[in-house]
Amino acid sequence: MSDLQAFREEVRAWLDANCPASMRWGTEIGNGGLGDGLCWGGKKYKPADPDEKVWLERMVARAWTAPTWPKIYGGGGLSKEQAKIIADEMRRLRCKPALVGFGLAMIGPLLLEHGNEEQKLRFLPEIVRGEVRWCQGYSEPGAGSDLAGVQARAVREGDFYVVNGQKVWTSYADKADWMFMLVRSDVEKPKHEGISFMLIDMEQPGVSVRPIRLISGQSPFCETFLEDARVSAEHVIGGVNNGWTMAKALLGHERSMISEAFNESEDKNELVSAARRYVGADSGGRVGDAALRDRIAQLTMDKICLELTLKRTKEAAKLGNQPGPEASIFKYYATELNKDRTALVVGILGPQGLGWEGEGFGDDEFGNTRAWLRARGNSIEGGTSEVQLNIIAKRVLGLPD
Ligand SMILES: Cc1cc2nc3c(=O)[nH]c(=O)nc-3n(C[C@H](O)[C@H](O)[C@H](O)COP(=O)(O)OP(=O)(O)OC[C@H]3O[C@@H](n4cnc5c(N)ncnc54)[C@H](O)[C@@H]3O)c2cc1C
Repeated sequence: MSDLQAFREEVRAWLDANCPASMRWGTEIGNGGLGDGLCWGGKKYKPADPDEKVWLERMVARAWTAPTWPKIYGGGGLSKEQAKIIADEMRRLRCKPALVGFGLAMIGPLLLEHGNEEQKLRFLPEIVRGEVRWCQGYSEPGAGSDLAGVQARAVREGDFYVVNGQKVWTSYADKADWMFMLVRSDVEKPKHEGISFMLIDMEQPGVSVRPIRLISGQSPFCETFLEDARVSAEHVIGGVNNGWTMAKALLGHERSMISEAFNESEDKNELVSAARRYVGADSGGRVGDAALRDRIAQLTMDKICLELTLKRTKEAAKLGNQPGPEASIFKYYATELNKDRTALVVGILGPQGLGWEGEGFGDDEFGNTRAWLRARGNSIEGGTSEVQLNIIAKRVLGLPD
């Protein structure tokens, strides 16, 4: 048996013995997901289920929440091949991730590439252990797609920057401990050259957040106000006025995270099973409606193609480390495909796909309805589909402005 095969056997046995039953995926068909209902950690974290904490502690003890990060920064120090085995086996056993969030998926990878040694030692270990939760302060009332238009202003005063301005659509800012943000550090320079990327402690008088209540009654986003907020000069990443380069590098990670989020289910026949259950099957056990069969076959093939292309690109180009503008292709395709797929699921469920709360619906049915609606946001966050198409045209295909 090869070393990797032996490692696989060990991982499978350990996961099976240590992942609690309630930390396994259920029968949800759609996935509107970017960690909805999973553990994000942080100082304000209250586990929804005691097993969630147990699962987190066990995975943290193995440093498998960040398997490839170097041991010196709290990671598992494993190879990409070993990390892939852990991910494969988790999928096979339907284990939920023990920890998700912008720390592991966005600011951590950016710090590994662009942080200095002090910054890495200061921030990475607590991300691996789920002790600190991060949020993203990019968008402002006047800067969304035109992100380089950020106006929040940072002025140096001694060892600190004093920051004033407003961020908006800051996902889960009310639950976060720290925020990575883009600020204008030089108003004299051209738009893209006067921006810095800074890390700010949210627990200070100069930072306040106001949740934005949505039609669903939930408040996943906040407005974040910065009034004479202080940032240590040591917490500028990648150098002063080099924020636009950092912003793009981080967006590469964000877009990769979003495209990979729809890759969690192992069962390729889930749409067929749902169609048999809700629409009916013919005497041979096939989905009764021929048009629906075609649609399911097409979307299933598209999903498999996306998964294989993501896998091949990662293995060939080591995209997992430093995603470039190509990440926009995957972000665009994965989020548009997920919109089609979740809409088809709701179509298959018929009236059972339209419940929001109350009697007469199963939890899996509510989950599918929510996934369908949530999927709309996936093609907006991290840059809209139109913006991704612009990036692909300019930075991948080299077309003129
Ligand atoms: C679920 C979700 C989570 C989010 N979380 C965060 C977060 O944590 N932190 C954060 O900072 N932001 C977050 N955002 C905000 C998100 O990044 C912005 O909504 C997005 O970048 C679009 O900006 P905007 O809303 O200002 O729309 P606008 O930029 O005003 O765009 C409006 C419309 O115009 C189109 N458009 C704009 N410019 C062009 C162009 N040049 N070519 C073609 N079409 C164009 C857009 O595609 C869009 O359809 C989140 C958004 C969502 C939906």
